[in-house]
Amino acid sequence: MAKVDFLIVGAGFSGAVFAEQAANKGYSVLVIEKNNFIGGACHDCYNSDNVLIHKFGAHIFHTNHENVWNYLSHFTQWNNYKHQVKANIGGKLYPFPININTLNSLYNLNLNEETIIQYFDKIRIKKDSVTNTEDQILSTFGEDLYNKFYKFYTKKQWGLWANELTLDLNSRIKERTNYNDNFFTDKYQGIPSKGYTELLRNILNHKNIKIQLETDFQSIKNQINYNYLIYTGRIDEYFNYQLGKLPFRSIKFEYETHNKEFYQPVAVVNYTQNLEIEYTRIVESKHMTLQKTPITTIIKEFPTSDGYPYYPIPQKANYELYTKYKKLSESLKNVIFLGRSAEYKYYNMDEVCFNSIDIFKKAPKNKKQN
Ligand SMILES: Cc1cc2nc3c(=O)[nH]c(=O)nc-3n(C[C@H](O)[C@H](O)[C@H](O)COP(=O)(O)OP(=O)(O)OC[C@H]3O[C@@H](n4cnc5c(N)ncnc54)[C@H](O)[C@@H]3O)c2cc1C
Repeated sequence: MAKVDFLIVGAGFSGAVFAEQAANKGYSVLVIEKNNFIGGACHDCYNSDNVLIHKFGAHIFHTNHENVWNYLSHFTQWNNYKHQVKANIGGKLYPFPININTLNSLYNLNLNEETIIQYFDKIRIKKDSVTNTEDQILSTFGEDLYNKFYKFYTKKQWGLWANELTLDLNSRIKERTNYNDNFFTDKYQGIPSKGYTELLRNILNHKNIKIQLETDFQSIKNQINYNYLIYTGRIDEYFNYQLGKLPFRSIKFEYETHNKEFYQPVAVVNYTQNLEIEYTRIVESKHMTLQKTPITTIIKEFPTSDGYPYYPIPQKANYELYTKYKKLSESLKNVIFLGRSAEYKYYNMDEVCFNSIDIFKKAPKNKKQN
C-alpha cells in the first residue's frame, strides 16, 4: 500500500474531524476502525423495528463554541431539540438539574428566584474543605437532595460512593436559581436532523479519505506506511498495557421496543432513589430524534466495569497512571493521541471536535506528497 500522510485510528468524532481537516488541506488520509460501523460512542442507527436509536446512550449536541457549530453545520442540519431530564423518585418525576420547579414540587414549596438563594444557603452543609464529590454535593445541596438525587445514582454509575471520587472539576454539580428545566444552557443545541452517523459519514466523505472498517490497529500496525499516526483508541492499549490497565466504566445497554407512541414524557429518566433498580436511567431516543412512528424503543443503561471503555473513572490514582502513559507518548515523534480514550478524559462531542480542529492546526506536517 502507498504511504499515507495520516493514518487515523478510530472513526469516532475525534478521528473523523481530524481526517476531514487533513483531507481538506490536500493530505492523504486512511481511517481504520475496528467496528463495522462509524461514529464510535455517538453511533446511531435504525433498529429492526425501524426506530432511530442512539445505540450507545443519549447524545445531545450542545456547545458555546461558535466555530464548532458553524463547522458541523456544513455537514448537517439540526433539529431544534432541547434536552430535558427527570428523576424518578417514589414513582413521581422531578425536573433535573435541581431548580425552583424541582424543589417546589418535591417539598410542596412556593420558592421564587429570590427566596431560593436563601433556601440553598439554609440547606447546604458548610464544609471547611471540599475534597471529593460527596463534599461537593453536600456543600451545594445538603443531605436530603444528595440522598434523593445523587447518592445512589453515583454509586450505580461508578461502582463507587461519591466520597471515593475526586472533585468534579467540570462541575456539573451546580444549583440552579431559576425555573429552567432544560438540561443544557449552551447557546447552540440540537441533534443532527439525519442522525450522528450520517453527520460523520458526510464529514468523512472526501476524495482524500479512505476508510477501512473492521480493522484493528494492533493487527495491521506493521503493514501500513504513514507519516503521522492519529490514535483515538485507548492509550494504555497502544502501549500494550505496559504500565498497567487504565480503569474505565462501561455500560451494558438493554433495548426494548414498546407498542405505544411514547414510553415516558422526556428523553431521559434517571432512577436515583435506591440501588434496587440496577439501571441508572432509561433513554427514549424518539424524543431527541423527533422521529414519528407509532412504536417506540427504550434503552436501559446498566453501568459495569467490563466492556467498551466509555468513562474514565475520576480517581487520583487513575489520573496518575494516565500521566505516566502521557509521558511515554511524548517520546513518540509522529504520533498524536486524541479523544476520550486516548487522553483519558471525559469530553463532550463539541470539545473533541474543537480539539481535533485545533490540534490539526498545530500538528507537525511534512510537505504534501502530491
Ligand atoms: C453514554 C454516553 C453519553 C454521552 N452523551 C453525550 C452528550 O449528550 N453530549 C455530548 O456532547 N457528548 C456525550 N458523550 C461523549 C461523546 O460520546 C464523546 O465526546 C465522543 O464519542 C468522543 O469521540 P472520540 O472519537 O474521542 O471517541 P470514540 O467515540 O470512543 O471513538 C473512538 C473510535 O476508535 C475506535 N478504536 C479504538 N481502538 C481502536 C483500534 N485499536 N483499532 C481501530 N479502531 C479503534 C473505536 O471503535 C471508536 O469507534 C457521551 C458519552 C457516553 C459514553
